[in-house]
Amino acid sequence: MLDGRIYNFSAGPSILPESVLLKAKEQFLNYEGSGMSVLEMSHRSKVYDEIICGAVSTLREVMEVPDNYKILFLQGGATGMFAATAMNLGSRTGAADYVVSGNFSGGAYKEGKKYLKDARIAATTEADHFTRIPKQNELVLNPDADYLHVCWNNTIFGTTWKYIPETGNVPLVADMSSSILSEPVDVSRYGMIYAGVQKNLAPAGVAVVIVREDLIGNAMPITPKIWDFAEQADKNSMINTPPTYPIYFIKLVTEWIRDEVGGTKAMKALNEEKAKLLYDYLDSQNFYKTTVAGEDRSMMNVVFRTGDPDLDKEFADLSSKSGFSNLKGHRLVGGMRASIYNAMPKEGVEALIAFMDQFAKEHKRG
Ligand SMILES: *Cc1c(COP(=O)(O)O)cnc(C)c1O
Repeated sequence: MLDGRIYNFSAGPSILPESVLLKAKEQFLNYEGSGMSVLEMSHRSKVYDEIICGAVSTLREVMEVPDNYKILFLQGGATGMFAATAMNLGSRTGAADYVVSGNFSGGAYKEGKKYLKDARIAATTEADHFTRIPKQNELVLNPDADYLHVCWNNTIFGTTWKYIPETGNVPLVADMSSSILSEPVDVSRYGMIYAGVQKNLAPAGVAVVIVREDLIGNAMPITPKIWDFAEQADKNSMINTPPTYPIYFIKLVTEWIRDEVGGTKAMKALNEEKAKLLYDYLDSQNFYKTTVAGEDRSMMNVVFRTGDPDLDKEFADLSSKSGFSNLKGHRLVGGMRASIYNAMPKEGVEALIAFMDQFAKEHKRG
C-alpha cells in the first residue's frame, strides 16, 4: 500500500490496482503525447479510438472471448442490463427463466417481468435467506425459454455458483458484475455475460456486455436505441458519447491482469489464496460466524457476523478507525462483509485477519 492509503473492502465502487492508478496519474494531464487528458478527448478522435479498441481487444484476449461474441460497453449499469437483456434476448418466445439467488437476481427477474410475456422463477433460495445456490435438480426449466438468467456471484449474500447449470438449448445469461475476470470463464457456455464494471474492472459508469452474435438483432421495438445490442455492436458502442474515462480504465485494468498478474488463471490462484486465508480463519474459531453453505462460498465477498448486532457495529466502527474501510455488511444481511476483489492485495486480507483476531480477543464473551 502506498503511504496514506487504506485497505478498502468496499463492495463497489471498489479498490483498483495501485499500479493502474499510478499509470492513470502519470498519463492524466497529457495522454501519450496527445497534449490532453483522456477526460478531454473527443470520443471520435483517432487517439481515443485506439483506447476503446484497445479495451475491447485486451478484454477479449484476457477473457478468451470467442470471435462469434460481441463486446459492448453500455450505460445504465448492470441494473440497466436487467431490462436490456429482456428487451434484446426475450423477443422470440417472450418467455424467460430466472434463478433468484439474492437481491440482484430478484431485481433482474422483476425488470424482466415488465417486458416479457412469461417470466418464470426456475428456482429460488429465498426460504434459506439466500445462504446457498440451488442445485441443478432444483431448477424447473422451461425448454422454450429465450434464456435462463443467473447472477453468478451474489455480492450481498456472499454466495457463488460453482457449476454451470445445464440448460439444453436455452442460452444461459449470467450477471458477473462482482466476479468478472476473477477466474477463467468458458465464454462459449453462455449466450450472454454482463457486468457493471465498478467491482472488478474500472470506476463506475459502464456495463460490459459479451453476447453471442446469433442472439442479437431481434430487439423488441420498444428497446431504447442506446440499449439495442445489434445497433451498438454495429457502431462499436458509440451510438452516442460513451463513458470515455471508465472505458480507458477497462483497458488499463485488463492490461494489468495480462501483464502484471499473468492472466485469469494466475488471478484465480491469487483470489483462491486470499479467500482461503479468510475462510480458514473463520472456520478455526467461534467468535465470528459465517452462515453461507461451505460449497457455495464466494471468493469475492466474504460475509460474517458476531451474532450480536451491537458488537457488529463496534467492529465496523473500530475497523474503520484502524485503517480498513467499508466492512459493514449490506443492510439486507447485517453483520460484516469483506469484499476482496482482484485488486485487494494478499497483505490486505492478512491485515484484516490480524485485526479480527485482536478484536475477538478483546471482546470475547463469558
Ligand atoms: C453491483 C451489482 C449490480 C448493480 O450494478 P449497477 O451497475 O449499480 O446497476 C448488479 N448485479 C450484481 C451482481 C452486482 O454486484
